[in-house]
Amino acid sequence: MSTARTYTGRCFCGAVELVVSGDPALMGYCHCESCRRWSAGPVNAFTLWKPESVKITKGANNIGSYSKTPQSNRKWCKTCGGHILTEHPSMGLTDVYAAVIPDLAFKPGVHVHYQETVLRIKDGAPKMKDLPKQAGGSGMEVPE
Ligand SMILES: [Zn+2]
Ligand SMILES: [Zn+2]
Repeated sequence: MSTARTYTGRCFCGAVELVVSGDPALMGYCHCESCRRWSAGPVNAFTLWKPESVKITKGANNIGSYSKTPQSNRKWCKTCGGHILTEHPSMGLTDVYAAVIPDLAFKPGVHVHYQETVLRIKDGAPKMKDLPKQAGGSGMEVPE
């Protein structure tokens, strides 16, 4: 039995709800062009979880999905269009957008795909050129 902390999230209209449990594997900001185009925002605040830690508790049949590349299955609510999460099968992790689970204290530890940034964030956290090595990237850092 688990006593892990849980966090409830929902889409913009509330038709889709989810629960995540435990602690995220990683939190930070993604500066990639794909996140930017899909979210219509300059950066994406992500929290990455093991897929088994993420459970859709309401409206599972109301979720749309789009995969531009096999690395990312992007999910949203078909009613309100609100973004919910992105599955990264090759990483074995699911990004539940930080904004979807406001009860989780967001502590960004890293910036990824910073070579593509349009919004520099000088917070002292490491700036990865692309991704950390353990996520299949170069592991290289770039100047803030
Ligand atoms: Zn919705
Ligand atoms: Zn991204």
